[in-house]
Amino acid sequence: MTGLLPEAALTRISVMQPWLGEDEVAAVAEVLRSGWVAQGPKVAEFEATFARRLEAAHAVATSSCTTALHLALVVAGVQAGDDVVVPSLSFVATANAPTYVGARPVFADVDGVTGNLTASGVAAVLTPQTRAVIVVDQGGVPVDLAPIRALCDPRGIVVIEDAACAAGSLYRGHPAGAWAELATWSFHPRKLLTTGEGGMLTTSRLDWAERARRLREHAMSVSAAERHASVLAPPERYDEVGFNFRMTDLQAAVGLVQLDRLPAIVERRRELAARYAEAIAGIDGLRLVADPPHGRTNMQSCWVEVGRSYRTDREGLLAELAEAGISARRGIMAAHRQRAHAAAAREAELPETDRLTDTTLILPLFHQLTTAEQDRVIAVLARPVRGSQGP
Ligand SMILES: *Cc1c(COP(=O)(O)O)cnc(C)c1O
Repeated sequence: MTGLLPEAALTRISVMQPWLGEDEVAAVAEVLRSGWVAQGPKVAEFEATFARRLEAAHAVATSSCTTALHLALVVAGVQAGDDVVVPSLSFVATANAPTYVGARPVFADVDGVTGNLTASGVAAVLTPQTRAVIVVDQGGVPVDLAPIRALCDPRGIVVIEDAACAAGSLYRGHPAGAWAELATWSFHPRKLLTTGEGGMLTTSRLDWAERARRLREHAMSVSAAERHASVLAPPERYDEVGFNFRMTDLQAAVGLVQLDRLPAIVERRRELAARYAEAIAGIDGLRLVADPPHGRTNMQSCWVEVGRSYRTDREGLLAELAEAGISARRGIMAAHRQRAHAAAAREAELPETDRLTDTTLILPLFHQLTTAEQDRVIAVLARPVRGSQGP
């Protein structure tokens, strides 16, 4: 490892790190002292603030994006025997969700530039059984939703936006997710905003919001918070089978602080991404993810495609970065390659998905990343073709 800079051996650069501080510590302490730690007033406040900031009519907090996706499919009326179109190029939770309601995931290919579903990709796999489509703002790049809704709405197909990665992204000048009938969000530490674990369902429809709110809490007619507020609690009813998909007030308190940090997080990520873009522009064979014409990414995932003309392949570059103490990651996974989805994958032809999952790599990018650390990453990317191990 003769080519390592002396400081390279000192610190390891991770691919992602949440930005948490004393404000989150204080917010959690306040909730602990209040004595109400489960779903209660902080969750309600987090929902209201999230809805306002992200221009959603209604927000329902959940235990994760995965459980929010499950609820979204239930309120959309998706049932056993239905087909749900999903991208294979996504975290596996997207393809898993339809199976929770007995539906079949049907894989559509993505656009080779953005990594997102397109109207023509969806149209190619519609069946008479298609009841819903789950689109993903992959890595934070907003999906071009309008043409997909123009295709699906007249056919009675519900479009659900898996916006797990998209807090702080914009589509046509408004927050991503704001244009969807149903959108789902993640607050896992791998995302821009974190509550440890946690999720949100947003919807333009009051009836869906109300049903999701009941379903996440055992489908109880009276919430635990309402029962607690009354001395003589009214009897509760259970009209359907529900779930426990609740968020806690401890998590919501963290989420409220994190929401305030969102603009700064996005700004810093885009600043660092612009530095990567500038450095990579001159390197043959590397292509960095960029804003699509219809919106702006929050740079949740800052990925590069390693093309044939680059001096090594994706695996080679990952190994070099690892040797320099830099944790990059393989790009977005493809669910159709997993055994769990072998049945759905059988007839799927997904050339763009296959190429992107094989050739992309996610670069380190997080709020606290210093430009000196970033320069260490860039130095590896920009190594010359020969003598890549340095002098
Ligand atoms: C992270 C992620 C999920 C899962 O989110 P959880 O909150 O961990 O359940 C779902 N879909 C996409 C696109 C994701 O990136």
